[in-house]
Amino acid sequence: MTRLDTAPEDTIVHDHDHGACVSGALARAEACCDVRGVRLTPLRRRVLGALADSHVPLGAYELVDRLGASGEKPPPMSVYRALDFLVAEGLAHRIESRNAYLACGREHGSEDVIVFLICERCGRAAEVASHAVGRDLAWATRAAGFTPRTPVIEIAGTCARCQSGAADEAAELTGAG
Ligand SMILES: [Zn+2]
Ligand SMILES: [Zn+2]
Ligand SMILES: [Zn+2]
Repeated sequence: MTRLDTAPEDTIVHDHDHGACVSGALARAEACCDVRGVRLTPLRRRVLGALADSHVPLGAYELVDRLGASGEKPPPMSVYRALDFLVAEGLAHRIESRNAYLACGREHGSEDVIVFLICERCGRAAEVASHAVGRDLAWATRAAGFTPRTPVIEIAGTCARCQSGAADEAAELTGAG
């Protein structure tokens, strides 16, 4: 697998209200944990905050480094445990093809399919809802007598930003900035 060029966050987040990405994920996590009677420990919160801060999925060791840069560096095993918790509670997803994690900002129904759009140029991953596909898959798997876990589809390609970014790149190369 080729290493994706992961731009520093502040260069790739100016197209939306990124503060809301982080605060929204944390608020949702706190509400979910309250309802379920599980604890969003300080480390779980830090891990989720770091994931929500990045639209590029992060591996466990990247997380350890990031957390270490902004505070006390946690042992990798603790980060793995926090990630297991976040994934089990549906607050984050593991992207198998990248061996990396992404914060989840939505509620998933039992018949949902999780669809990741993963950009091969900037490394960002986004989640889209696809209820119709989910229903079809649920029907097909049940017809086979199979009890599926939530299906996950990973689609690699080029994000809208990178498609429209060719012009920006040209402008940057001519050295306006
Ligand atoms: Zn954001
Ligand atoms: Zn999700
Ligand atoms: Zn992209």
